[in-house]
Amino acid sequence: DLTASTIARIKETEPQVEAFITVSEEKALTQAKALDLKGITEANVLAGIPIGIKDNIVTKDILTTAASKILSNFEPIYDATVMDKVYQADMIPVGKLNMDEFAMGGSSETSYFKKTKNAWDESKVPGGSSGGSAAAVAAGQIPVSLGSDTGGSIRQPAAFNGIVGMKPTYGRVSRFGLIAFASSLDQIGPLTRNVKDNALTLNAISGYDEKDGTSSGISVPDFTANLEKGVQGLKIGLPKEYLGEGVEPGVKAAIEKAAATFEKLGATVEEVSLPHSKYGVAVYYIIASSEASSNLQRFDGIRYGFRAEDVENLEDVYVKSRSEGFGTEVKRRIMLGTFSLSAGYYDAYFKKAGQVRTLIKQDFDKVFNDYDLIIGPASPTVAFGLGEKINDPVTMYMSDILTIPVNLAGLPGMSIPAGFSEGLPVGLQIIGKQFDEATMYQAAAAFE
Ligand code: GLN
Repeated sequence: DLTASTIARIKETEPQVEAFITVSEEKALTQAKALDLKGITEANVLAGIPIGIKDNIVTKDILTTAASKILSNFEPIYDATVMDKVYQADMIPVGKLNMDEFAMGGSSETSYFKKTKNAWDESKVPGGSSGGSAAAVAAGQIPVSLGSDTGGSIRQPAAFNGIVGMKPTYGRVSRFGLIAFASSLDQIGPLTRNVKDNALTLNAISGYDEKDGTSSGISVPDFTANLEKGVQGLKIGLPKEYLGEGVEPGVKAAIEKAAATFEKLGATVEEVSLPHSKYGVAVYYIIASSEASSNLQRFDGIRYGFRAEDVENLEDVYVKSRSEGFGTEVKRRIMLGTFSLSAGYYDAYFKKAGQVRTLIKQDFDKVFNDYDLIIGPASPTVAFGLGEKINDPVTMYMSDILTIPVNLAGLPGMSIPAGFSEGLPVGLQIIGKQFDEATMYQAAAAFE
């Protein structure tokens, strides 16, 4: 019944929200029926819960497009590891969610298929790239979704829609079956309406996977264990760079209020500094685009998806399929990445970016010697208007200035609701030590 009513609600609300690329009705109902027969045990708290999946996570026999024309007819023959885990938990995937093409963007507007709307104001973007994952949860279509975050793509849309979004530590969740954008930055994580649901879902999808060479063998704690503990005695750093230029006054005010709340709850909040974070966006667009240019080579018109017609030779297949199959933003990144990896420029761009990445990471290490957590805004602004930034890539890129350093350092980061500015939700970002998501959830639950 829950699966059927969820699907009915998705269909009813979809004309307004436009969050789904595919609704996998038949498969979901079959799975739900089988679960009814099998029965639900008390230990399995997630059993029967409907979940939406970002469309860059491969799902066996369910269309998986990464919101690109080049994969518009791609039905994978295997499941991503996170899907295996979702099925092991007896959660019911009900469909695939809209996103920026190949997760490149911050508004979900680069999707080949549709423009998802912000759940609070349909003239605003839902954020991105996991915009469908965030809007669907915030609009009440589904209680939980999976997204991916390479430079902010879970946290920023979670912030824009007033929900909880977690990007776990790099290596915590298997990337096997996540269509690669930038392999050294990509990480899958849950989006939910509250902290507990988020922690429960992370419990289910975490853990070592031999199919992902960068997956970590570190043990997975119960992320719900500290939810009642409060923040008494925790030391929280608030980087001065995170409330600087470009951060909207209403966002700044909400974050300062959140800091005061943490103090009232018994934590200490002090100003800290991440001096190299200002280079984050520049470093990210070199590293992420370079990795993307390599990862996206496999879309050649032969192995997967779309193939151009009226071709004369093999070269023509590649050139025409890729020219017609990729959108503008994806092409921009492939060209930028190919350039910065090319022989004459490698040292000046890619290598240099790697060096500055280390400095950014060291800034965090230094702060975490003395502090348990770092807080700040997830985004310098609240949700902006549909169409407002899509033709201005650099302005769009700057909207990830506060989330990108976390990916570059491989750290966990989350966004939780922290009030409103101009009637739109503000997201409080909480950044933790490597593999210390439990303390982040602890603080998030106390704040909630
Ligand atoms: N908005 C950033 C980009 O366009 C981040 C995207 C992401 O995290 N997938 O690359």
